[in-house]
Amino acid sequence: MGDSGEKSRKSFATCMSCMDGRVIVPLIEWIRKNFGVDCVDMITEAGMDGILSGEVCPCKESLIEKLDISLEKHGSRVICISGHSDCGGNPVDDETHRDQILKAVERVSKWKPEVTVAGLWVSPDWKVIRLLPK
Ligand SMILES: [Zn+2]
Repeated sequence: MGDSGEKSRKSFATCMSCMDGRVIVPLIEWIRKNFGVDCVDMITEAGMDGILSGEVCPCKESLIEKLDISLEKHGSRVICISGHSDCGGNPVDDETHRDQILKAVERVSKWKPEVTVAGLWVSPDWKVIRLLPK
C-alpha cells in the first residue's frame, strides 16, 4: 500500500536566508502562504545575500549539499533567496541588498535550473516583498 504515507507527506519549499532571528518567522509565513507549502527548509548564513552575490561564493559546496537534501529528500521545487534591511552580517544599503538578491537569484538558478528561484526582500518593517528581475 503506502498510500496513506503519500497523502500525509508534507510539501516543502527552501529558503536561503540570513540567520537574523527577526526575518525567519516573516519569511516562513510568507513562503507558506504564497507558495502553498506546509514546511520551509531554512539554509542560513549571516548576510546570505552578500555571500550568494559575491565574485566567488566561499561556501558554495556546502550550500549545494543542503539544497540537494531539500530538493531531493523533501521534494522542494521552489528556492527563495532573501535579504533584509539593517543586516549585521552584510551591512550595505537597502538598494544594494536588493541588487544582491537579484544577482543571487541568477547564480542559484544556474545551480538549480530545474526549480523556481525567487528573490525576497524583507523591508525595514519586516514585510516580505517578492523582487522581480529588472
Ligand atoms: Zn542579516
